[in-house]
Amino acid sequence: MTVFPMSSPPPLAVPPIVNPHQAATVGAPRKAVALISGGLDSMLAARLILDQGIHVEGINFYTGFCVEGHTHAIRHHERAKPKRNNALWTAEQLGIKLHIIDVIEEYKDVVINPKHGYGANLNPCLDCKGFMVRKAREWMEQHGFDFIITGEVLGQRPMSQRRDTMPVVARESGAFDRLLRPLCARLLPETLPEREGWVDRHKLLEFNGRSRKPQMALAEKYGFQEYAQPAGGCCFLTNQQYSHKLADMWATRGSKQYEFDDIMLLKVGRHLRPRPHFKLIVARDDGENNFLDGYRKRFIHLHATSHEGPLALIDGTANDEDIELAARLTARFGKGREAETVILTVTDTAGNSRELKVAPMPANNIPPEWYL
Ligand code: SF4
Repeated sequence: MTVFPMSSPPPLAVPPIVNPHQAATVGAPRKAVALISGGLDSMLAARLILDQGIHVEGINFYTGFCVEGHTHAIRHHERAKPKRNNALWTAEQLGIKLHIIDVIEEYKDVVINPKHGYGANLNPCLDCKGFMVRKAREWMEQHGFDFIITGEVLGQRPMSQRRDTMPVVARESGAFDRLLRPLCARLLPETLPEREGWVDRHKLLEFNGRSRKPQMALAEKYGFQEYAQPAGGCCFLTNQQYSHKLADMWATRGSKQYEFDDIMLLKVGRHLRPRPHFKLIVARDDGENNFLDGYRKRFIHLHATSHEGPLALIDGTANDEDIELAARLTARFGKGREAETVILTVTDTAGNSRELKVAPMPANNIPPEWYL
């Protein structure tokens, strides 16, 4: 990774404008595209720039790893939480247009081959930021906008928001000094919108570090309430358990590929791998039961009929012995867990069903390493 010393920031000279839309904006109100995650920081950054009379529109990228709006909508105990799209809600609060862009396919390369590596889990934050700012830059050029704003705060994230890595994002995205971070701009070299006087640098901020207090105070000043405070971040890739399941999937397949359904299923259910060639996905509540039900035709699946219990999918290949083991585990997570025997229905991918009577697996017979 290239590291730039604090005393000599990298040259971020802006390349000449080649876009006819941009050339036509001279004298017209300046336009900024704001990366809107749905969190407080990007909301505040957009508001600061709106306050300077700039036309702002938001852009939100759907990678498939987003936390909000999925588990919250599926899981029973999460139902009290508002099921809103936080990016849309943010845009509504700000009174700006939001463009939600599906980047699921393109984003795969970021997750599979991050040039700058992963963070504490399988989060490729530096590559991810570079990717998102690059997509925003392309959007900006296509739509005749002048610069990009993000809610990044210097020193807030260990990987992508350090003084030495923030210029990497500006450079590798091709945004160069058209990338403005209003919440910490005064701690960074001047950008084009500041130099050109499109925005007043003195009205930008110098937030620094991991404390959320300055953001919360500013939110209060603006009267922003009920903003998203997602526990564990905005993205599943920063989640240790999720990353462990993703790594397990790659290791057992022998390849770092994934499809959209794979990464959705990793968000749902209890995952156990009792054998290298199969794992069991067991629903934890009614919501997950319904969700997994949508996948039952693609997997051998089991559910108890003698007692109430979860739906479980077998991911991998399983012989009769494996299916019996899966049935004993599935019975363990249903209301028949203390019963001597539980009857389950096992259905293969062709839709053929049969009954199986098994003794539920005692909890202390399940090795902890089976839980992913
Ligand atoms: S937390 Fe997720 S979405 Fe955010 S920068 Fe890191 S990888 Fe990207």
